[in-house]
Amino acid sequence: MNYAKYQDPENSSELIEQLRKLPAGEELINSINSVYPSWIVQIIDNYSQDYSYLENNWKIISKMAFSQPQKIILVDRLWYDAVAVDRKGKYELLKTTCDILTKKGYCIRREGEFIPCSECGKALASFGLFVVMKEKNLPVPETWADKCGEC
Ligand SMILES: [Zn+2]
Repeated sequence: MNYAKYQDPENSSELIEQLRKLPAGEELINSINSVYPSWIVQIIDNYSQDYSYLENNWKIISKMAFSQPQKIILVDRLWYDAVAVDRKGKYELLKTTCDILTKKGYCIRREGEFIPCSECGKALASFGLFVVMKEKNLPVPETWADKCGEC
């Protein structure tokens, strides 16, 4: 995996200022896409009823940041994935981008952790994450499926 494309560009601080000023919405997402093409892999509206505790946690986090829940954004890599592999690299902009999105009400998750329901498109845990959640005794469905219990 090559993380070079996620290293801080020279105009990092200008970009951070620009992103901070933008409200949640299309322009913000487009600006991030132009800084990091293909970092955002998929955007999902909300979590499936089967994972209502994640939806609730998200509401709480948004409330604490004085924002409204926006969308779930699945990304290629998180900043600490980059740091774990390349300790010398600088990934402050990627980290700040995640912080800015979270504060504006977005829920940032890794691609591969969630999939859209094959019927309604709401977010469901991937099989891998489901197994981890189950081991942690989190409130997940009895068995994994690629669609909601209700769909
Ligand atoms: Zn569904």
